[in-house]
Formats: sequence, C-alpha cells, structure tokens
Amino acid sequence: MRKRLLISTMLATFAAAVPALADETAPQEGMALPIVASPLALTIHMHHKRYPRYDESWPVEVEACRLTNICLKNATVGSNSDDSNEALNLLMASGKIPDIVGMMGIKDVVNKYGPEGAFQPLNDLIDQYAPHIKAVLDQNPSIRSAITSSDGNIYFIPDMPDGKYTMGFFIRYDWLDKLGLDVPQNVEELHQVLLAFRNDDPNGNGLKDEIPYFNRAWQEFPRLVTLWDGRTSGSDTYYDFYVDDGQVRHGFIGEGYHLGISNLAQWYQEGLIDPEIFTRGASSREYLLSENLGGMTHDWFASTAGYNDSIGDKVEGFDFRAFPPPASVSGVRMEETRRSPVRPDGWAMGYTNTHPEETMKYFDFWFSPVGKNLVNYGVEGKQWDMVDGKPRLKPEVLGSGEPVNAQMYAIGASLQTRGYPRDYEQERQWTNQAALDGIALYDQGDYLIDLFPGVSLNPEEQAVYDKYWPPILDLMLEKQQAWLLGSADVDAEWDGYLAQLDSMGMQQVLAVMQEAYQRQYQAN
Ligand code: CA
Repeated sequence: MRKRLLISTMLATFAAAVPALADETAPQEGMALPIVASPLALTIHMHHKRYPRYDESWPVEVEACRLTNICLKNATVGSNSDDSNEALNLLMASGKIPDIVGMMGIKDVVNKYGPEGAFQPLNDLIDQYAPHIKAVLDQNPSIRSAITSSDGNIYFIPDMPDGKYTMGFFIRYDWLDKLGLDVPQNVEELHQVLLAFRNDDPNGNGLKDEIPYFNRAWQEFPRLVTLWDGRTSGSDTYYDFYVDDGQVRHGFIGEGYHLGISNLAQWYQEGLIDPEIFTRGASSREYLLSENLGGMTHDWFASTAGYNDSIGDKVEGFDFRAFPPPASVSGVRMEETRRSPVRPDGWAMGYTNTHPEETMKYFDFWFSPVGKNLVNYGVEGKQWDMVDGKPRLKPEVLGSGEPVNAQMYAIGASLQTRGYPRDYEQERQWTNQAALDGIALYDQGDYLIDLFPGVSLNPEEQAVYDKYWPPILDLMLEKQQAWLLGSADVDAEWDGYLAQLDSMGMQQVLAVMQEAYQRQYQAN
C-alpha cells in the first residue's frame, strides 16, 4: 500500500521533472569524446551482493570519467545490506531515484515501476543518442523484444553476454581408463559407469569412499532429468519456464521430469549421488576433486577444466574433462544450460534525471569500441595491450594466480550491474585448452536447445503470477527434494501433486505466461 502511494507521488512529479528532448540532434556515426564539454556529475544507485555500492575509485570508472567527462557519483541506498532487493526497497521508499540505477534483476523492477513513472522510457533516447545500442537492437529483434516492457517501452539497458556455452558434463577420464570403461554414451551406460565408480575403487585406496556424481549447486542434480527427457528450466535462470512448439510449459509438471526424478531417487539410493548433494555447497567441487573422491559433475567449462591445471600434479594421473551429454531414454543428447544473449540485469534512468540526452550517450559509450574494451578488459596499458588491433590481457593478469574475473570485478570491469556488450574473447584468453576442447565438443554435437527469452507481464498478469507462482514453486521444490532423498515416493504421489498444483493456480500461471509470450514474440 505504502509503495503504491509513493509511486503515485512520483508519477505526479514526473511530467514536470523531465525536460523535453532536443529533437534537432541527428544520430552520430561514431562516438565523439568527451561526451560533454564541461564535466557533468550523474548520481547512481549500484547494488550487487559482491559490491553493495558504486565505487568512484574503480580504475575503469576513473578512465570512463576521463574519457567522457561524465563522472558518476555514488548514491547507493542500502549498502550495509548485501541484499539488492532490500536495497531497492529502501531506495523506492526514500522517494529519490538517482540519475542511474544499476542492479541484477533490474528487468522486473523497471517493468513494474517504469510504467508507473519511476523510470524513463528509453526508446526515443536510444533512437536519437545511442547509435551503438540502436544497431545492436536493430540487428537482434529478439533482444529488443526481451527488454521491452508490457507497455511497449524499453526501461533498461541490459548486460549482454557473449558466447554460447556455460556448463557441460565432466568425468574422470583416468578413472574410466583404470576400470577399463568407455565414455558413457547413453543413460544406461552412465548408470553402469557410476556404479563402477562406486564399487570398484577407481582412486585405488582400498576404501569405498568415491562420490560418483557431485555438484556445487544442488540444482544441477535434478537437472539430470534431461536424461529421461525431462526439463528443469528454459533459460539460464533456475526453474524457469520453457517453450515447446509455441506453448509455454514448466518442466516440473512434465512426464519426463516424473520419470527422471523416479530414476534419480534410485541413483541416490544406490549411493551414486553425493549424499550431501543438497548441503555441501560451493566448495564441493574443490574438495571432492582435490581429495580424489569425485567422479563426475555438471558445471561451468572454464573453471571446471581449470582443475587439471591447479590439482593436476596433486592427484596422480588426474584427467577431468568434458564429455558429450549421454543420450536420453529416447536417444536425445541435450545440454539444458546455455548462455542467454541478454540478461535481466543492467541499468536504467531515474525519472528525475535532468540529463537524459547525456545519460543515454553515456550508456552508449559502453557499447562503443573504446567503452566495450574498457568494460571487458580494464584499462589499456594496465590490464591489457592492443596487439594486432585486438585487446590482449597482459601476461601478469593471466598468470597472477587469481581468477581473471575476480581481478576484473576488483577494478570495476565486467560488472553485472551495468548495461554493456560482453566480449567472449576476453574469457577465451583465460580459458584453458581442456575447456576449449570441451566447448568445441559441445559445439560439434549441437546439443543446445532453444532458449526461453522471458516475458514482460502486464499489471494484471503480474498480479496473477505474484499470487499463485511463489507458493507453487515452493511446493515443487519441497516435493523435488523429498522425492530425490527418498523421504517420499514420486510414483505414489505424482497424480496428487499435479492435482494440488492445479488447485493452487498452476493453469492460471501458465495462461498468463502464454498470453504475455504471444503478445511479445508472436505479435511481431
Ligand atoms: Ca576408494
């Protein structure tokens, strides 16, 4: 109630606060720097759990300020919390939206508050002042659709990933060799391999201590339902909907999911899955690999393959490499994860911003060649050099022993709270050969499936979604875990589960998702 009143107040002041756009400015071809002749300060709320405030001393920001003459001033609210939504609520409650707001998940925020007037629509500004952003959107209509709100406006500039792959299946090739086994090609062979890892002492210590299958993120365990043609998500967000032949569906009510969970519960019972899969957490991979206990996982290519370098000499013969997704019961090899070309993260323009033209030019700066290099690689001469016309990370960055992405975050590069195009080439430069080989393997096999690009719900649809979906998802996850751990029987409960979800509004949720999907992607 309080929020609603606040937004109404904002709406009342909106018209007065925003100056008319200068319409005589023609789109520029290149990027003229600096953007403004005399220095201009713009305020920003930038919140991320890893960096709960905008840091004016980040070298990338210092350089951007020098190049553009537009310098951002920290105005982040709620920096004492690492919860970005909590910080956002505090910001909205303060009634003062800074010139720029950057955060993860900003899409939902601006789609909700943008139409109410808290954020400026960017469509015309992009057309007039952002030739680089405009070119990207013109070339990628599905990205334009994905960032367009239900009222037809664009309210944020997104973080735009590059490259296709995130995760793949990894297995101890040296364990396979030791036991005289081939790389498993289908779900039945995989079952046999995991049983052998469990029973035949591949680490050779005389103890039955191997953990055949493990994950850092427990959500990757139920994702194995893809081996029975089930689905768990249609995007790079867990539990997301997916689209099948123009129909929006959810994996957790599918028959393949039912069959998969039933079989995975058996695998868990047989000791093939880490008994602590739901609790061991982020250090699982590091621990189970360095202790020579873990046999197989599903995880990010670059960091997982990196263990061949970091613990290769600690565990004799250690050979942990990617293998193609085993064929499912119906013969389908599927990799459910992939990189989305557009994230729901990025930045937006507050309604009281009195410099929309300059701000949009500033947003566009990060899409220009100079800005794109700065945000992806850091400061030229410090983190990278231009070699044969292309940015190349310096040897001291690549060889520092600290992960390159962590080094980038520390200087304000590669942040997820800014709208910009990522350059996969940066990541490729610190991805080892085993990972590149794995990615090539997946590329060759063409295992990726279509991505659900997400929808922008209108207020009525949002109300249905907000009312029904959270308790439904809670129940789905509660049941999923109970079934997998064997504390309840999925086969016995399945029909009752589907009926219960319907009584909780499952069909209404699917209906509004379908409506929004058709409006957004099938209309044009
Ligand atoms: Ca053993």
